[in-house]
Amino acid sequence: MTVLEASTDELEAFRAEAQAWLELHAERRQPDTSAFKRRVAATNPEDERAHVEACKAWQHLIFDGGFAGVTVPPEYGGRGASTAFDRVWRQEVARYEVDTGVFAVGLGMVVPTVLAHGTEEQKQQSIPLALRGDEVWCQLFSEPGAGSDLAGLTTRAERDGDEWVVNGQKVWNSFAHIADWGILLARTNWDVPKHRGITYFLVDMRTPGIEARPLRQITGVAHFNETFLTDVRIPHANVLGEVNGGWGVAQTTLMNERALIGNATGLGFRDYLELARHYGRTDDPTIRQLLAAAYTRFEMLRWLGQRSQAAARAGRPLGPESSVAKLVVSDHAARNGDLALAIEGAAGMLAGRDAYEDGFWQQQFLGQWGIRIGGGTEQVQRNILGERVLGLPPEPRPDKTEPFRDIPKNI
Ligand SMILES: Cc1cc2nc3c(=O)[nH]c(=O)nc-3n(C[C@H](O)[C@H](O)[C@H](O)COP(=O)(O)OP(=O)(O)OC[C@H]3O[C@@H](n4cnc5c(N)ncnc54)[C@H](O)[C@@H]3O)c2cc1C
Repeated sequence: MTVLEASTDELEAFRAEAQAWLELHAERRQPDTSAFKRRVAATNPEDERAHVEACKAWQHLIFDGGFAGVTVPPEYGGRGASTAFDRVWRQEVARYEVDTGVFAVGLGMVVPTVLAHGTEEQKQQSIPLALRGDEVWCQLFSEPGAGSDLAGLTTRAERDGDEWVVNGQKVWNSFAHIADWGILLARTNWDVPKHRGITYFLVDMRTPGIEARPLRQITGVAHFNETFLTDVRIPHANVLGEVNGGWGVAQTTLMNERALIGNATGLGFRDYLELARHYGRTDDPTIRQLLAAAYTRFEMLRWLGQRSQAAARAGRPLGPESSVAKLVVSDHAARNGDLALAIEGAAGMLAGRDAYEDGFWQQQFLGQWGIRIGGGTEQVQRNILGERVLGLPPEPRPDKTEPFRDIPKNI
């Protein structure tokens, strides 16, 4: 049962319970977060493996402690509480030195999508394992010719008895090289308009024919991949939602993805203040102004997050709020990247181990484009807001009504 309203007493009792549990099981984040930042900046495979293992160990612990999937119904391993409780949990866990980053796709996108569209069997099979941290998930949506225009994807799935046979190429797939499961969009009907011929699959990444090749990013980290699918056989039971109804299912995933990125503040204002203190720049009037602007942005983001929470509490589904949040986070990432390098001054030109905190701040600057593109680019979020919130006339799109087979393609 999902609890829709919570009294302040209930929330504070939960906060006390979470605090007591965290004190026993986790280490408090130190005021000096240098070690943490160096770990994040690490670019070698050994450190990445250690990070994955640490995430898994921690998620197991959270699950056993009863804090995994705060809003997920208890029959699937969660707590069945409202988003207000989830918010309290996030506030408390943020004070501790723990990371569950490799589960971002599984917990943030797959679990809500399977809950909304899955059969009872699919829910029972995938949600408890994801909550326990046994399985890492990846998202196999984008293709070399289909990113912003995701519905233009050309990976094909053909029915063969009780199975589907999939061929094609995906790209920019975060964690695909370490994932156990993936969510996959493939074209199953070429004779209808593009949005109506797509099917959504749950795919075991250990199936023969799947090859994930890591791509190294400008930051030096290789967290995403190009993924090749050759005669990959997926049981029909792994179709999520209706055959050819995958676009609607994907909307649930994409809205949750935007909200995830929109709520992922990562660093706090305090980190920038510490950086300015380290470089002795807190008396510099220009840096002080930039810090004040950063503080304002951090607060605005906090309020935006609260607004989405309030909408969720009122039972309103995530809508354009997630595009607003994604857009604001993009701008925030760009300005914070500039701020870090402004604080560092000439030292900002160093990189890797030569730079302060092993190049963590240069990575923040370089990583901003990933944040601004991933989960839907800034331009695309503006299109969504223009059309769906402001009611502006949409771009003319003949490809929305013509059979996909007849649309000119660059392949
Ligand atoms: C860090 C990161 C992680 C990612 N992780 C994943 C993942 O795990 N799984 C996955 O499937 N994908 C992932 N992606 C892919 C991501 O969703 C796409 O990169 C994104 O949707 C943009 O698509 P594209 O790269 O093909 O760019 P394109 O769509 O080719 O866009 C190129 C440029 O054209 C602009 N443009 C395109 N169409 C329009 C329009 N209609 N109006 C105005 N401007 C337009 C864009 O804004 C952009 O500036 C990730 C990307 C990044 C950067």
